[in-house]
Amino acid sequence: MDEALRDRVRETAETHALLNAVKHDSDPEVGAILGPLMGENPAFREHGDEVAGVAAPVVAEVAEMDTAERRDRLTELAPDRLAALEADDEGDDHPLPELPNVDDYDTVRMRAAPNPNGPWHLGHVRMPSVIGTYKSRYDGEFVVRFDDTDPETKRPDLDAYDAILEAIDFLGFEPDAVLRASDRLDTYYEHARELIDLGGAYTCSCPAEQFRGLKADAEACPHRDKSPATVHEEFDAMVAGEYDAGEMVLRVKTEIEHKNPALRDFVAFRMIDTPHPREAAAEYRCWPMLDFQSGIDDHLTGVTHIIRGIDLQDSAKRQQFVYDYFDWEYPEVLHWGHVQFDEYDVSVSTSRINELIDEGALTGWDDPRAPTIASLRRRGVRAQAVVDAMVDLGMSTSDVDLAMSSIYTNNRDLVDDDTDRLFLVRDGQRLSVTGDHPVAGTPPVHPDHEERGTREIPVDDAVLLESEDVPADEDRVWLKGFGCLSRDGDSLAWESRDIDVVREEGVPVVHWVSAADTEPVRMRTPEGDVAGLAETTLREYDADDFVQFERVGFARVDEPSETGDGEETVVYYAHS
Ligand SMILES: [Zn+2]
Repeated sequence: MDEALRDRVRETAETHALLNAVKHDSDPEVGAILGPLMGENPAFREHGDEVAGVAAPVVAEVAEMDTAERRDRLTELAPDRLAALEADDEGDDHPLPELPNVDDYDTVRMRAAPNPNGPWHLGHVRMPSVIGTYKSRYDGEFVVRFDDTDPETKRPDLDAYDAILEAIDFLGFEPDAVLRASDRLDTYYEHARELIDLGGAYTCSCPAEQFRGLKADAEACPHRDKSPATVHEEFDAMVAGEYDAGEMVLRVKTEIEHKNPALRDFVAFRMIDTPHPREAAAEYRCWPMLDFQSGIDDHLTGVTHIIRGIDLQDSAKRQQFVYDYFDWEYPEVLHWGHVQFDEYDVSVSTSRINELIDEGALTGWDDPRAPTIASLRRRGVRAQAVVDAMVDLGMSTSDVDLAMSSIYTNNRDLVDDDTDRLFLVRDGQRLSVTGDHPVAGTPPVHPDHEERGTREIPVDDAVLLESEDVPADEDRVWLKGFGCLSRDGDSLAWESRDIDVVREEGVPVVHWVSAADTEPVRMRTPEGDVAGLAETTLREYDADDFVQFERVGFARVDEPSETGDGEETVVYYAHS
């Protein structure tokens, strides 16, 4: 990194540290500003390893300022950003637009319609987050409907029904109703029969390939003008399971010359040989297509507003034909673009995640490498952090990117104040400690909360430091909560407890553990497992407790070991 770039890093780091400090009214930490710093300054990224080191003293200076000093300095450096921050604080702006025509309905009723072919990945979280937010905004209702009418290609996973309901509960929403489409086949059959009576549907035994050709040429097949009596008879035989897959379908009669071929006489029901995995639905062979089923259900269950992907615009158009036959009003529709997630190597896809679990490449849906709710939950990320990030995406019809760092920033805001600090040393290097040093280090449990006391880390004759924190020979280092030492070969020689060396002379502050007694840790992270040694205070924490390993990151205790038995404590890394 050249000097000019170094200056830019310093200045940008100062601005970010100030923004962070003013926003949260707390001391900034390097870890918390690196994400936005790199995000806004691509030129810094190739020097990723050095940036933290250059930023650290600047951040430390900001930490020393009081609130008024921070505001003054920010006014000099970035007045616009301070103003934007203050405007944000006033908070009345919803990231979600008003729903259309709300006054036309007694109750706003929206639905999430998951296919239970697996537990939820992150992409699924947007719908309940947005619907749940609208529900509270309009005092409306939130319906969960399992669209589980494809026993073959999108085969339901029996455990997924409960897993999805649990995920919705975890996210903090309580559905007003839960429906399973596979319980409602008789309702769909009734509506099919009514549609036949209205002249809106016909049974068709054209081989799929042949019908595709006719459709492409905008030509009707010979079955289109059958008498309703014959159509009823054949549809009854479909319902009775008298055909095999591919032998007979029921089509909705639209316009065979419609300019959009996708809307020409589409299939409403087809035969599926594979039994549904739910016992209650195992006998059915005649299954509705999703567009027919969900169109009927939206009307019958009083859904007022539908949100769907921009790529599914044809669905509404197909369903409109059915609604026209029945003389129903179509609900309001909002379309949105796709969400893409950074950070994960695993694609955000139910089938891909299932494959990787089957192959043993992932340990399960809660593997820290999996882009799933179960995984974030196990890592200790709170639901609110995820929901807020999803809602902040708004309702644009273009594709949007969700930076995982925004979820992590939200979570840090939620947990930081309550979370105790600990030291964890990865890749530890042993250095003996010489001189007339204190018998123990006593770093605070939380730097902003003196009343929560200190931890005690005994220092016998040696400590462990992360190798990159080991100072060069004769250089000094400040062991947090202990004091200043200088490197002397394989030893650190005690100097003093005078903090001015950090403030005035820039001696680096590092975390450390006693070499005599530590707690082995296996930290599971999205990039793989990391081993380390923690201070023994970790033994006081139980499963589900959340801790911050200073300068490493936040983590959730997953499996505490028995006190001091040498077994690893397993923790799941959340974020920096
Ligand atoms: Zn036909």
